[in-house]
Amino acid sequence: MTPVLSVQSIESYYGQFQALSGISIAVEEGQTVAIIGANGAGKSTLMKAIAGVHPPTKGAIQFRGKPISGSSAYALVQQGIAMVPEGRRIFPSLTVEDNLLVGAYSGRKGQWTLDKVYELFPILKERRKNGGTDLSGGQQQMVAVGRALMSNPELILMDEVSLGLAPIVVNEIYEVIRRIAALGTTILLVEQDVSRGLREASYVYCLLEGRISLEGKPSDLKKEEISRAYFGI
Ligand code: ATP
Repeated sequence: MTPVLSVQSIESYYGQFQALSGISIAVEEGQTVAIIGANGAGKSTLMKAIAGVHPPTKGAIQFRGKPISGSSAYALVQQGIAMVPEGRRIFPSLTVEDNLLVGAYSGRKGQWTLDKVYELFPILKERRKNGGTDLSGGQQQMVAVGRALMSNPELILMDEVSLGLAPIVVNEIYEVIRRIAALGTTILLVEQDVSRGLREASYVYCLLEGRISLEGKPSDLKKEEISRAYFGI
């Protein structure tokens, strides 16, 4: 079966600095795949390459078998790929509701509507008239996830959704991510918390200095090999 997302031998640079070296990953339909790795391993760069924010200089990226490398972020959303960016990127001058509606601009039809997003995050309905940044970090993350859902994606890319949030809020966000996955959306997420990544994903890739140092189903991976792949020792 053709994977939903296939990344083949990509390389990515910032000026002279090579951030990714020959990265290949595959994400199958309905899977939740986690990218784990230490600070600076290249996780965000990989997400940015897929999302069209920082296109790779070499290699190929395919969505359902069609090349997407070099496509704009807008074109990707229209095809069914949504991104929950690191740092949430909420529009401060817009209300919660308008921030969510921004996600619907692609006009893709599907199960996700404002009402459905409010069902998933009731607190956002209460706060719908609030300014986008007049919210806790967890609520802002909910807006970022809700905004991605509003584009009715087939694949969601999530970059460090738990960053800077209290453990109880992280639990809540992941509870929702599990529900989204159960509804059939394919998810690729970056997670710095290794045990969280291993718990939530059906398949993981570990990055180390821009390369894949380990991959597999969490149940097949041993603690020591994960430590080695994560820290490079
Ligand atoms: P973190 O968990 O800290 O976000 P990461 O695994 O997501 O780390 P990246 O942000 O992808 O790592 O960074 C990979 C490498 O690329 C790092 O060495 C980083 O310093 C470098 N890098 C990232 N963004 C830029 C940039 N805009 N310009 C120059 N170098 C960059």
